[in-house]
Amino acid sequence: MTDFTVGTGMLRVEEALTLLSRRVAVLDGVEEVCLADALGRVLAEDVVSPLDVPPHANSAVDGWGFAAAGRPADGRMTVAGTVAAGHPFVGAVPVGMAVRILTGAPVPDGVDCVAMQEDCSGEGGVVTAPMLAPGTNVRAQGEDVAQGATVLAAGIRLRPQDLGLAAATGRTRLVVRRRLRAAVFSTGDEINEPGAPLPPGGIYDTNRTTACSLLRSLGAEVTDLGILPDRREVIRDALARAATGHDLILTSGGVSVGDEDHVKAAVEACGSLHFWKMAIKPGKPVALGRVGAAAFVGLPGNPVAVMVTFLLVARPLVLGMMGIKDSAVPRYRVEAGFAFRRKPGRREWLRARVRTDDGRLVAEKFPSDGSGVLTSMVWSDGLVELPEDVAEVSPGDALAYVPYAEMLR
Ligand code: AMP
Ligand code: MG
Repeated sequence: MTDFTVGTGMLRVEEALTLLSRRVAVLDGVEEVCLADALGRVLAEDVVSPLDVPPHANSAVDGWGFAAAGRPADGRMTVAGTVAAGHPFVGAVPVGMAVRILTGAPVPDGVDCVAMQEDCSGEGGVVTAPMLAPGTNVRAQGEDVAQGATVLAAGIRLRPQDLGLAAATGRTRLVVRRRLRAAVFSTGDEINEPGAPLPPGGIYDTNRTTACSLLRSLGAEVTDLGILPDRREVIRDALARAATGHDLILTSGGVSVGDEDHVKAAVEACGSLHFWKMAIKPGKPVALGRVGAAAFVGLPGNPVAVMVTFLLVARPLVLGMMGIKDSAVPRYRVEAGFAFRRKPGRREWLRARVRTDDGRLVAEKFPSDGSGVLTSMVWSDGLVELPEDVAEVSPGDALAYVPYAEMLR
């Protein structure tokens, strides 16, 4: 069972990710689905090919096939017949003769190279072809996949090309992990359902829509459980009910140290809670815990902090529970197109957009760093990651950049 206990110090990002990868238990339960339903699911078996792919040597081009060693000095050969894709040649092509062969057609016995039709001339059953090395324009049997090879490994999230490769080995169904079931709440007396009139002091709920969508984009099955008031008992009861039938409960708001932050007490009343004080910006402490058998993640309330802490902490947790082996995201090297100063000590993510300037990738930073400014997330395409010890960024400096698209695949 997943255990989120940590010490009291500040957690560095790598430590947090290592802890997550060690502590998170993969959900049990698999199901078999047809390829059409497998996109985005997590593969729960190693897919081994029972056959060579391609299953037979075939021509990579339209042209004429012959045995390289049997080609006469003048290149003129009698055409022994035609072989098209799906229609193998019966028998062998005699030495010194050629066969008309089309792309994808099985290469007949007696043929070991194919001359492209653009390079040949001839008519009336005779062709003149250039000299070629054996193997030219021939796709060898098994050159893509050898029989018995593992073509897909358990623990990947299935992409279109993965499904295509499974189909190439003859598969129609795959064993995948069952979907993670997540429950999402917003908290706060000021939070209102979009569509309803706004009372004085009210704001519309931003986080629930974002959080549900983030979870869905990772492949989770999401139950939207609405807005909870700033009342400990109500929150406690709602969380306890949600713990049945969900693998994960995710809330936003109510986990800082304000008087109206009741989520912490509510989780402690019906489960266990640990604050992970991570040395990151934006993002106050992220609360991780357990309610019944469900994992609990309490994100901060500010909409930008919600998205950043989700991507940094909830995402690896969710992917780990789903059984995805590798949730690391690549950092791209870009150039700073801005100047920035700050107090070092925390790993900071700046909302950024990357443009190409004469072949170079240059990052622009959103002018405001406020953690409530959701337009900054919409304006940006990704995050620039500043290491803990950096105090200053000058134009032209090398920076690490992670596109949102890499984190939400
Ligand atoms: P809290 O952590 O509950 O103190 O919330 C921090 C800030 O985020 C406050 O300004 C809240 O009004 C805001 N906030 C909390 N939850 C939401 C939400 N679901 N949608 C939009 N803003 C929120
Ligand atoms: Mg609140």
